[in-house]
This record gives sequence, structure tokens and C-alpha cells, in this order.
Amino acid sequence: MLVGLIIYLDGKFVDEEDARISVFDHGVLYGDGVFEGIRAYNGFVFKLKEHLNRLYHGAHTIGLKINETPEEMAQIVAETCRRNNLSDSYIRLVVTRGKGDLGLDPRNCPKSTTFCIASSIRLYSEELYKKGMAVVTVATRRNIAEACNPRVKSLNYLNNIYAKMEANLTGAGEGIMLNNEGYVAEATGDNVFYVRDGVLITPPIYAGLLEGITRNCVMELARKRGIEVKETLFTRMDLYTADECFLTGTAAEIIPVVKYDGRIIGTGEPGEITKALIEDYRNYVKNAGDGERIWE
Ligand code: PMP
Repeated sequence: MLVGLIIYLDGKFVDEEDARISVFDHGVLYGDGVFEGIRAYNGFVFKLKEHLNRLYHGAHTIGLKINETPEEMAQIVAETCRRNNLSDSYIRLVVTRGKGDLGLDPRNCPKSTTFCIASSIRLYSEELYKKGMAVVTVATRRNIAEACNPRVKSLNYLNNIYAKMEANLTGAGEGIMLNNEGYVAEATGDNVFYVRDGVLITPPIYAGLLEGITRNCVMELARKRGIEVKETLFTRMDLYTADECFLTGTAAEIIPVVKYDGRIIGTGEPGEITKALIEDYRNYVKNAGDGERIWE
């Protein structure tokens, strides 16, 4: 178990054991809130502005007022890393609807709750990054935007948890979720890319997925390399017959996929474009993605 972390909670930095929220918090009672998973590399918070944008846009969409300004929040994230002496970390920033009563009405929650944890995360073994991962399609469809928009990184992750459980049953590393029309949307906690004839392809946001910060970054890095990038709808068969495939996410970074629903993808090994992008991404994050160093 991780012990001894210093946590930011509603205006204060407290010991992990003292970082407690109310059982009446609607984040707990209803999964009502938004969050971000952010990385710090080498003393830089990677793509902090982009993460804060997504957090505030998500909060705005669900009608949630965040007590801190984005500028204050940037300082909170940096200070949490600093206080834990973590120049490389995985940061979880959470804003819940706050304390209310037992009804779901958000009007009964006068003040949102904010907390920030700086810790670490490891999703996959180094071997999987080298050899590639097997993934499967899961039966659980990604939420439809009209019901619970996947663009909002909300605390309500049951849709993804169902999907992860299904993937776990098969022993696969990840589950690929289709949208309600049967097009590939995303993995349970990552975005999906494939390569065909040298073109890099990923589903458009309107397919019903989270607009990943890593996704956008990888598209930019690919374009910088002169690789054509397309956002188009595609089906499982397009992935079966792809030359290369990989997933992207803040925690996972870029992880090659070599098997999908039992079909070998490409040569069965991580492809050349995938490997090049992994290298580009690792170099890019080392330099904080050209970002500003926000603490020493
Ligand atoms: N899709 C989902 C459902 C996610 O939860 C995440 C983040 N873990 C992603 C995609 C990737 O987004 P990002 O690159 O911003 O981490």
C-alpha cells in the first residue's frame, strides 16, 4: 500500500490518512464529478493546460462549478508534486459535486470538492511494450453521447469498468469498445489507432470517445514525421486487417497491439510506425512536450 502521501483537499495539504471526504459527497453517492489523470516527467507537468481545459469543459458540461480558477489549479497540481518530492509522477485531479443529501439533485450540493493526489501508476509490463499486447472486442457498448457523453471524463466509469471486466475474463490486456452503431470507439481507458499503407487512422470524437490528450499529441508527432493522419469511422475488420495497431493514454503512453480478437495484426510484432512514435513520444515527454517548467 502507498503510505505517507501529501494530498491536496479543498484548500489544504493534508496527510493521506486525513484526506477524507463526506459519505454524502455526490462523487461517492452518484459518481457525480469530473477528473483528470496527468503525468509529470522530469519536473514538468505534461500538457497541464490541455488537461485543465478538459477538466473545466467537462465540469461546465455537467453544470459543476469548480472553486479554484484554472491558474490556481495549475499551482495546486505543481505544489502537490513538490510536496511529495515527485518529479516523475501520475497525478489524479478530482472535482466532485460535493456534499449534499441522499437525493440526486445537484442543487442540494452547495460547494464542490477538489482533491489532488500525486503518486505513480503502472498499467502494463515493459515486455508488453516491446512485444505488443492482445486485445479483444467487448460486448458492452460505449455510452452514447446523448446519454452520458464519453467526452466528459466523469467520475461515472461503470461503462468502462464493465468493459474491463469482460476483457479480463478473456485474459486480454485491454477491451475494445464499439459505439452503438458498431464502429470502433476506444479501449476502456485508452484511445485506439491503426496504420494501413503508411496512413495513421483513429476514430473521430463524434464516434463517442474521450478526446485523449495523448491521442492529440501522437497525431501531432505523426504529422511532424510527415505521416498522413486521418480521423475516420472504422469497424473491427479494419483493425483485423491493419498493418499496425496501438493504444494511447496518459498512463499507458503508447502501447503496441499485435493481436485483436485472436487475429494477428500485421507481422505479429510492433510495427515500424508504432515503434517510431513510441520513441518520438518518449523524447517529447522528456522535454515536457515543449511545456513550461512549473516547479523546480
Ligand atoms: N479514453 C478513456 C476512456 C480514458 O479514460 C482515457 C484516459 N485514461 C483515454 C481515452 C486517454 O486519454 P488521455 O490520453 O488524455 O489520457
